[in-house]
Order: sequence, then structure tokens, then C-alpha cells
Amino acid sequence: MVRRAFKFRAYPTRPQEARAVRLLADHCDLYNAALEERREAWRMRRASVSYGMQSAQLMNKAILDAGWAQFADILTGKAEEAGRRVVFVNPAGTSITCHICGRECARPQQDTVICPIHGTMDADLNGAGNIATRAGLGSGQASAV
Ligand SMILES: [Zn+2]
Repeated sequence: MVRRAFKFRAYPTRPQEARAVRLLADHCDLYNAALEERREAWRMRRASVSYGMQSAQLMNKAILDAGWAQFADILTGKAEEAGRRVVFVNPAGTSITCHICGRECARPQQDTVICPIHGTMDADLNGAGNIATRAGLGSGQASAV
């Protein structure tokens, strides 16, 4: 395989330049984190973590992230075609927070949550209530986190 290098003079706008500076800083952080991981693996376990292993790990994450972003784009487009809108909410805690009072629930089984005040509820319906509230569509009984 022939490898060639090309150099181009770039004339970025101020916003492009700012993004390039952030991108470079992110790459520095990523490089340093990867180096730290390799050093730590060697120091703690005498294990070699290769560039290839770290690269594959990042690629898997990138594919998952890209898959999600693509799904969100398609969903948003379909919703707009149907005259609807999509509201993205932070899902953290929606399955174990009571949708009525906002208290933390116990979850003894996958399909059941128990609020200390409101008792046993269907976990899916409770989670849906929290998501609806966070999207601004709910009863307003539990506050958004
Ligand atoms: Zn409750």
C-alpha cells in the first residue's frame, strides 16, 4: 500500500477554528487517557494493552453512538412527517423514581416498583409516567430531575 501525505492551507472561520481547537484538545485528552490506561494495565497486571485493542474498543462505542444518533434522526423525521414532535429526555432514574411523588422506589422484580408512599406499581407504566413528565406531557406530579 502506498501512503501519501497531503498538506492543505486552511482558512477556517472563527467558529470552525474554535471547533478545531476543541477537537485537538479532545484528541489530546483521549491520547493521554489511552496512555494512562496502558501504563496502569502494565503497572498493575503486567498486561500489555495494544493500540489495536483500544482502537477497537473506541470503534465499538462510536458505532453504538452513531447507531443511536441515526435512529434519533430517523425517528424525528418520521414524527415531523406525521405532524408530531419528538422530545428527548434524560432517562436516568425514570424506572426507579415514583412518577407520582418523585421518591425513590424499590424494584424487587423487573416488572414491579414499590414506592414507600404509593405502594406497588407496574414498572413500565411508572417509567412512562416519569418520561411523560420530563417531556412536559405528564401530570406534573413528579418534578423533572
Ligand atoms: Zn410515590
